[in-house]
Amino acid sequence: MAEGNITNTAVIQCEKCGSIILQPKTAVWKEIEDGIFLPPMKKCDGDGETGHKFWTVTDMFSFENVGFCNTVNDIKYLACADCEIGPIGAHKLSDKKIFYVSPLRVKLADEDKNPVKS
Ligand SMILES: [Zn+2]
Repeated sequence: MAEGNITNTAVIQCEKCGSIILQPKTAVWKEIEDGIFLPPMKKCDGDGETGHKFWTVTDMFSFENVGFCNTVNDIKYLACADCEIGPIGAHKLSDKKIFYVSPLRVKLADEDKNPVKS
C-alpha cells in the first residue's frame, strides 16, 4: 500500500478505555523499513514487537489524549493519558518531528478500513 496519502478515516481510540487519541484525518499512514521496537504493554503478556507500520503525526498537539511513559535510549514511548496503558507508540529523540502510533495497539472506529488489515 502506498504511503503518505493515507489518513485515518475515523477516530483512533485507546483500545483499553476508548479515549480518543486522534481525530479523523489527523494521522498519516507510514511504513518504515528499519521498524521501531515497542515493549510489551503494561498488564499484558508478551515480548513486545518491532513495528513497521504506523499512524504518524508531526505535531504533538494533534493528539487528544496522549502522554509519555518511559524513555529507553533515544525513544520516548507514548501512552494513553487517561488509563496510562502503553506504550501505544513512540517518539524518537533523534527525530523530533514525527510521532508514531502503533495500529496494533489502538483501535480505529471503522476497523474494517484499518490499513493494517489489508
Ligand atoms: Zn486509555
